[in-house]
Amino acid sequence: MTERVIGRFGGKIQGPLVLVFAGIHGNETAGIVAMEKAFQMLHDRMPGGEDAFAGALVALKGNLPALKAGQRFIDRDLNRMWTPEHIHRIQQAENIHLSSEDKEMAQLLELVHHALYEHQPEVLIILDLHTTSADGGIFVIPANTKASLRLAKYIHAPVVLGLLEGIEGSLLHFTEGNHFAVGGYPKQCLGIAFEGGQHNDPASIDRCLAALFTTLRSAGCMPEEALAGPYDMILHQYASTLPEVTRLRYVHHIRPGDGFRMRPGYRNFQPIDEGEHLADDAEGPVKACCQGLILMPLYQAIGSDGFFVVEAV
Ligand SMILES: [Zn+2]
Repeated sequence: MTERVIGRFGGKIQGPLVLVFAGIHGNETAGIVAMEKAFQMLHDRMPGGEDAFAGALVALKGNLPALKAGQRFIDRDLNRMWTPEHIHRIQQAENIHLSSEDKEMAQLLELVHHALYEHQPEVLIILDLHTTSADGGIFVIPANTKASLRLAKYIHAPVVLGLLEGIEGSLLHFTEGNHFAVGGYPKQCLGIAFEGGQHNDPASIDRCLAALFTTLRSAGCMPEEALAGPYDMILHQYASTLPEVTRLRYVHHIRPGDGFRMRPGYRNFQPIDEGEHLADDAEGPVKACCQGLILMPLYQAIGSDGFFVVEAV
């Protein structure tokens, strides 16, 4: 169980509990490396040390068997299962009937509940770190609450609205209903997912690190000037040519057996035209239903969404 905890910091003075999930998808390790680096930096350079950190930071690895295998998931996508109904089923079922991801979910929940009992925070902030198979864009997805949107805008990366309407059972959906709450804590739960760039791009690690520090400052865990450095500029520079806010227009869902193959060369936020030949599957060419910007075109074997189309707002 302890190999799941990447690190803990703070907890001596009142403040929010910031809970970071990294590697919810087993082929996305940049967030884990970023968090290891972050704890080292916090221990070395936090002004006033750990005692001066308001609230607590806890970072967890998501899907351990999938991380070991270096693939997105073993049995099911761990970022499409977070519903109160499914958790209830897991808690009722015998171990033998549980999928690999069900077991991961049960362990994660236990650690989250443990942290909530320990810190009893008024506010819980979930930061879910991801990377994409395509190159070309970082972005933030807020849970559908005003406070989450405010937090998302604070990170200097394009905010994508409505993405959660296109999928079900993500960790962010779970935060919207404050479903982690136990024993009356937290009173409020904010959630954002940060997409740090391409899976294997070393710069994705630094971008995840930058997203974390920005979140910690905006949550008041550490002063604005703490750990200031090149990380502040990383997101600014990278996102300067990307749209500030976009909204989901379309999701191309894929099912097993579709034989979905994205045509090569698409990058996140690349403009596409209506009718553009984007991919092929068992039924023939897959064409764009509308004009817009393509997001998360699928360039890996496993995944349930072929691509998303967003528009600038
Ligand atoms: Zn992911």
